[in-house]
Amino acid sequence: MLRQLLVVGNWKMHGSRASVGALLADLVAAVPAVGPDVAICPTFVHLEQALQICDASPLAVGAQDCSHTNAGAYTGEVAAAMLADLGCHWVILGHSERRQYHGESDELVAAKVAAAVTAGLCPIVCVGETQEQREAGEAHSVVRSQLRGALQGQAQLTGLVVAYEPVWAIGTGLTATPQQAQDMHAFIRDCMSELDGVDATASRIVYGGSVKAGNAADLFAGPDIDGALVGGAALVANAFLAIINAAAA
Ligand code: PEP
Repeated sequence: MLRQLLVVGNWKMHGSRASVGALLADLVAAVPAVGPDVAICPTFVHLEQALQICDASPLAVGAQDCSHTNAGAYTGEVAAAMLADLGCHWVILGHSERRQYHGESDELVAAKVAAAVTAGLCPIVCVGETQEQREAGEAHSVVRSQLRGALQGQAQLTGLVVAYEPVWAIGTGLTATPQQAQDMHAFIRDCMSELDGVDATASRIVYGGSVKAGNAADLFAGPDIDGALVGGAALVANAFLAIINAAAA
């Protein structure tokens, strides 16, 4: 099965109107018309600006999170339907920074996935083990349990993407070797095939964790590695474009 590669930039809590405008101008001017699917995920406050600049370009726009609920007295939250209404296509859910700093559980991630899909957004569901869990030989069981926690029992999962992001490789400069990543991606696909409502063969599994120009091509060579979720390198136009071009090759 040929899956179109997907390269997503997670801008985290970075940017100003000026820097968002400049970075997107560079990306829009240079992103190849034929290549991988590409998306950028700025902060909530920069979404509308990003959507305007990316309109009619191959760049899609997504959010970094959404609420588990539709509307109501939830101060500070943003509903998936609001993001869809704005024009977002993607939403990152269950990122390890949200699990770590905001105490997000698998149950909460599952509720967010359901809310996103109901609103018509495509969820990018992040899973991945910590260094301690890998050293304890628990990487596979942790990832399986996060996948089941987030995806089991969902009514429909159209456009689902899973991001394998080993926590020890995020923002550290450490990258899983292409073999380590491929092994885990194949395992994730197996786990997904056990879940009702998930098309494991068609769904994309992207890798995240210090992806850069120098390691992207080797990672993309893995048959189960369908692209990348990129943090730091997504904030520098040339670095992000090099990853996109590695996926286009
Ligand atoms: C991320 O946080 O999703 C990520 C992969 O970050 P980085 O590329 O900076 O490791």
